[in-house]
Amino acid sequence: MIEINGAEGEGGGQVLRTACALSLITGEPFHITQIRGKRAKPGLLRQHLTAVEAARTIGAAQCEGLAMRSSELTFRPGPISAGDYHFSIGTAGSTGLVLQTVLMPLLLADGPSRLVLEGGTHNLSAPPFEFIDRCFLPIVNRMGPRVEARLVRHGFYPGGGGRIEVDITPAPLSPIDCLDRGVLTAVSGTALWTGLPPDVVEREILAAREVLGWPEEAFVERRLSDAEGPGTALLLEATFEQGREIVTGFGQIGVPAQLLAKTAAERMGRFLGSRAFAGPHLQDQLLLPFALAGGGSFTTVKPSQHTRTAAMIISLFTGRRWSFEQESNGATLARVH
Ligand code: AMP
Repeated sequence: MIEINGAEGEGGGQVLRTACALSLITGEPFHITQIRGKRAKPGLLRQHLTAVEAARTIGAAQCEGLAMRSSELTFRPGPISAGDYHFSIGTAGSTGLVLQTVLMPLLLADGPSRLVLEGGTHNLSAPPFEFIDRCFLPIVNRMGPRVEARLVRHGFYPGGGGRIEVDITPAPLSPIDCLDRGVLTAVSGTALWTGLPPDVVEREILAAREVLGWPEEAFVERRLSDAEGPGTALLLEATFEQGREIVTGFGQIGVPAQLLAKTAAERMGRFLGSRAFAGPHLQDQLLLPFALAGGGSFTTVKPSQHTRTAAMIISLFTGRRWSFEQESNGATLARVH
């Protein structure tokens, strides 16, 4: 039984999600205490509960301590079954993070699967749908499997109600190297919005343009149906010959639109100024597929606390280690051993 202190390192939900995925894949049970111990509201919230329930369902696992606000859990995995699954979070909790929990186990299952996930699709502190679809999955697909995702309905905080569908065709994960992103070929900004005054979106775009200097034609406003909102997210996208980065500003009650846009644009500016293939979020999300492939490397920005913590959990379950070496051009080379 692997023992995990959920307050160590980053101390958030990723520790638990990574542990569930790896437990199903390796067959190793685990016991975690102080779940999400470094978060303002520690313990299992609705979204984490759904993520563990999803892992339990696809892997016939036995769980003790699976309840709202629980801070301790024992997870004993069974065999992974491919199939059609529908998981509904019931709040605006992130569908992307539930996907993060079950995707790798289903990729290594003995047949194709289809997932329907309901909840939030554009949440603060979680990968928005476009990031999963356009930054993360293309790399997973490059490693061998076939994963296709569709956004059926947007879901913002606090309303939720979003829906994504994911088709998964397993294949062994092959090691790849993502070292050079190549030259920048396109930039764009998309302001998703519904149920808000139109000037909110105009202010978002103006603020982002002021920081990045991108032309007006690079931006589009996409008004969604009233039923999907209210909510807004500004997605800034940079496409390179070999990869893509999406930086998102999520609308938040009490945060002026221009401020969320300015912060997102400054983050994009820093990424454009680096020589890295993977940005700060793609970085921690690539660790699991690369480790499961048993090799490979990518260049990235400075390793985050999320990344160092995911690397620690990966090494607990698999014995595989990550190294992070600074290169002369300022980028970091992340490599699985
Ligand atoms: P945690 O904070 O432990 O629940 O983990 C959050 C996860 O969401 C990590 O994998 C982050 O990389 C990811 N994430 C957070 N914000 C973003 C974002 N704006 N774009 C893409 N991924 C994100």
